[in-house]
Amino acid sequence: MSGPLSQSRRWFAHPLALVVAILLIVVVAIGSLGFRYWQERQASDLSLERGRQVLETLDRLKTVISDVEAQRRGYLLTLDPTYLKAYGVADESVRRDAQELQALVANDPLQSHRAGHLALTVAAKLREIDDIVRNARTSSSAAALAMIRSLDEIKSQLDQMVDHERYQRVDQERRAEALEQRKAWLIAVGVVIVSSLAAAALALARLEAIRRRKAIAENVALQGDLQARDKKIRHLVDANIVGIIIWDLAGHILEANDQFLNMIGYSREDLASGCLNRTDLTPDEWRARDLRTVEELKQWGTVQPFEKEYFRKDGSRVPVLMGGVIFEQSLNQGVSFVLDLTERKRAEEALRQGEERFRTLVHFSFDVYWESDTQHRFTHQEFAGSLSDAPAMGSEIGKTRWEVPYLEPDEEAWRKHRETLDAHLPFRDFELARLAPDGSKRYVSVSGLPVFDTSGRFVGYRGVGRHITERRRAEEALRAMQAELAHANRVTTMGQLTASIAHEVNQPIAATVTNAQAGLRWLRTQPPDLREVRHSLDRIVEDGTRAGNVIHGIRAFINKVPPRKDRFDLNEAVLEMVALTRNEMFKHRILLQTELAPGLPAVGGDRTQLQQVILNLILNAVEAMSATDAGRRELRIHTEREEAGGVLVTVRDSGPGLDPAAMERVFEAFYTTKPKGMGMGLAICRSMVEAHGGRMWASANDGGGAVFQFTLPPEPGEAVLDLRQATN
Ligand code: ADP
Repeated sequence: MSGPLSQSRRWFAHPLALVVAILLIVVVAIGSLGFRYWQERQASDLSLERGRQVLETLDRLKTVISDVEAQRRGYLLTLDPTYLKAYGVADESVRRDAQELQALVANDPLQSHRAGHLALTVAAKLREIDDIVRNARTSSSAAALAMIRSLDEIKSQLDQMVDHERYQRVDQERRAEALEQRKAWLIAVGVVIVSSLAAAALALARLEAIRRRKAIAENVALQGDLQARDKKIRHLVDANIVGIIIWDLAGHILEANDQFLNMIGYSREDLASGCLNRTDLTPDEWRARDLRTVEELKQWGTVQPFEKEYFRKDGSRVPVLMGGVIFEQSLNQGVSFVLDLTERKRAEEALRQGEERFRTLVHFSFDVYWESDTQHRFTHQEFAGSLSDAPAMGSEIGKTRWEVPYLEPDEEAWRKHRETLDAHLPFRDFELARLAPDGSKRYVSVSGLPVFDTSGRFVGYRGVGRHITERRRAEEALRAMQAELAHANRVTTMGQLTASIAHEVNQPIAATVTNAQAGLRWLRTQPPDLREVRHSLDRIVEDGTRAGNVIHGIRAFINKVPPRKDRFDLNEAVLEMVALTRNEMFKHRILLQTELAPGLPAVGGDRTQLQQVILNLILNAVEAMSATDAGRRELRIHTEREEAGGVLVTVRDSGPGLDPAAMERVFEAFYTTKPKGMGMGLAICRSMVEAHGGRMWASANDGGGAVFQFTLPPEPGEAVLDLRQATN
């Protein structure tokens, strides 16, 4: 602000001083020249005047001497005393003039010498003449005349002096002329100097005027600027976006905006009463920070933003962020902005607590917490402290899950997993096996959720992992047991069936054989007894019909067995069978997909029987697919609500499928294509489903393989049950 002004003043000051100095020197020089001129002029005038007086005196002397000579000569020639009348007066005037002359030429040594000599000569001659005059009557007139003529010497002396004086006068006049010329020069220089001074003064005045105009313009601009800044600051203060205070270094708060007052819970009256000051508002532990702030302000004029706390009027504390600056004009006052950090601190605390809770949750619920980036590389892993065989900390960071060594890599399962990851979909319970340090197998089940930033961009995955080795072992044991049990059940059922079938069918077949043999025997007699043969054949037909009836009877028996009436969730029943056969599927590398419609109506019937139907369909599919390519063994179990209100179950495999001609035959008893098959499974299944009021059929899968489907009717009173559940 003062910079440019003082600069222009300095710029201006230097040449001005120079000009003034030069002008002063010139004035002094001209003055001294003038003074000298004046002195010389005086001296010249004086000497001219003196010369004139000398010449006058000399003239007078010459005249007086001539008079004296004339008087003396007259007297000497005539001896007439009248000539002597004026005699004394003339002598006196000669003497006086001679003395005057001496005085006048006292400064000129030569003339002075001559004047002295003249005075002496004059005195001597006058005395001589007086003597001659006195003795005139006695002495010869010739001698007297000679004596008088001697006055010529005086005249010649006078002439010499006159010449000298004239010569000097010419010189003086020449000098006076030169002086006159110098005077003209001096006057000219004087005029030039005066006009230069006038011009310089004018220029300076002009420069000063320009400078003033500029300074005024600058001031106006500055004023405008200041006003604009002032307005902006006022705006900021009044906007109450941040707290603003004006303080002095002693700690008094001189001014504050509403935002600040609200922050610390004081009123404008409190501020006006002057009782607000930093020391009282600052808790003890922040005093040292305040002292440092004051030091910084004194040293640098500003203080970088820092955090501290203030006391509110009610004694609570408010965390703030503040920064300040000292006013330029006064080294004692300044302004600070104050930001209320309460919300931020609260959010930070909430975040910290959230993190703490999350850690606790992870600690107790999961064995591993992990995060991965967009390329599915681990960026973060935390292992539960209880995990004895966790991999070395950080050893897996930067690697993808498929770069970490896992056992039994099921390529198909991995491919599907990667597809899920690349599609940024959530996944649950993806199971992996890894080698523990002791060489045993460890099973891990991982689940993950994709993470998106605020703009919806995928940034990676976050998830957890759980060690399921123990569970897995227990499950495997259970499954093995259940599978065995199921097998045993199946075998027992089938065994019992076979036994009863064999028993029931054996008898008519044995009778058929006996009757056939009897018939043959009656044919071999001569003549053949055709009546008996017909009789035997009639019995054979009877026995055949009886055998057929036995089979019917068995199916009817199965159908007639009144099924138990349970109410159960079919999806759950399906999942139990899935769990039971998981091992089997794993062994045959079959990818299982279950699509179980949520909210299916409850099913009524014999849970065990229906589970046996599902189990049979799954085992048939597994058996069928084990003959196909390992890469594409896929089993999909699907449940959905049927249009009629019942439930539809679909078991779809990617095995060799069914011959279209055999599509219905597979449900026939004893239809089998397996060397050790019984051909009773599907027949019994259909009987069971039908016994529950449902239907069962087979079809071809679109992509190859077989589809077995069955329906179960809605349970009467289902709606009532649903309502009841809803009110619960
Ligand atoms: P079994 O299994 O003892 O042969 P089933 O009645 O269960 O008796 O099956 C009858 C026949 O139906 C089987 O031998 C087989 O040829 C055919 N079949 C059953 N399920 C499937 C299937 N999922 N894919 C292809 N064929 C099947």
